[in-house]
Amino acid sequence: MDIQNLLDDIVGSIKPHIGQGEVAGYIPELGSVRADHFGISVATGDGEVFSSGDSEMAFSIQSISKVYALALVLAGDGDRIWKRVFREPSGNPFNSLVQLEHEDGIPRNPFINAGALVVTDRLLSVSQDASTAVRDLLRTESGNGSIQIDSIVADSEARNSNRNASLAHFLASCGNLDNPVEEVLDAYISQCSLAMSCTDLALASRFLARNGLRADGTALLSPAQTKRINAVMLTCGTYDAAGEFAYRVGLPGKSGVGGGIIAVVPNNCTICVWSPGLGRSGNSVAGVAALDEFTTRTGLSIF
Ligand code: GLN
Repeated sequence: MDIQNLLDDIVGSIKPHIGQGEVAGYIPELGSVRADHFGISVATGDGEVFSSGDSEMAFSIQSISKVYALALVLAGDGDRIWKRVFREPSGNPFNSLVQLEHEDGIPRNPFINAGALVVTDRLLSVSQDASTAVRDLLRTESGNGSIQIDSIVADSEARNSNRNASLAHFLASCGNLDNPVEEVLDAYISQCSLAMSCTDLALASRFLARNGLRADGTALLSPAQTKRINAVMLTCGTYDAAGEFAYRVGLPGKSGVGGGIIAVVPNNCTICVWSPGLGRSGNSVAGVAALDEFTTRTGLSIF
């Protein structure tokens, strides 16, 4: 199969979807990103990269960062985190408050905001500087040493973080945060504000398609841990649209409100798409359409 031709083709056929949906406005700095971008990159297990469109343009990775924070916690601390976070789809928006009280401060999964705050809290305890640990993993695995936190995006989110602050305070009231709320929020916002391109993210995520092996061949995760992260991505990675994403794309995936989505074809490759217009659940409209086309045309899905 000629992957390069396929990606160029997708960039053409996806045009009617570009600009559909709404750019995330609740973080003002993200709201100022032009809606008409589209990029796609595929990284194979052995590090070959194919890309098309705005694939080298850096964007805010936002909730995609939750995957790497979870990977670092599982790698450094094993299964302890699962006493503090469930792994069931929430069926609610990613920043919902309602379920958390009903379920005594144990978030439904590590990819909704409440769950990611707990994961980041644990990463702070095991690594001291959680967002630097995430950044360094992404730098090493992508081979791009210039990946940075975009401090303008981080400040913008920090000034508009009442909802995440509410979640964090509620978690703390239930005894499900070990570190001060302000430190957890700061680390969470920083990891979300990392700026990366489709190519960076596709390369950095290859351990998920390689049974946990890092770019240098050493193990970040065991094959079983990698299976479990991919499973949670499939069931929870695109929030209350995870069923629709599985139906259309058929791969583990994780989205962010910056408009990026990372998808994993186990034992084969990773795909990253980016287009800022979001559907109701916070997933890139053109991104989902592109991944749908990619897996439908190639047959590269887990089903
Ligand atoms: N930083 C964003 C938030 O907490 C991430 C949300 C997302 O990408 N779904 O609201």
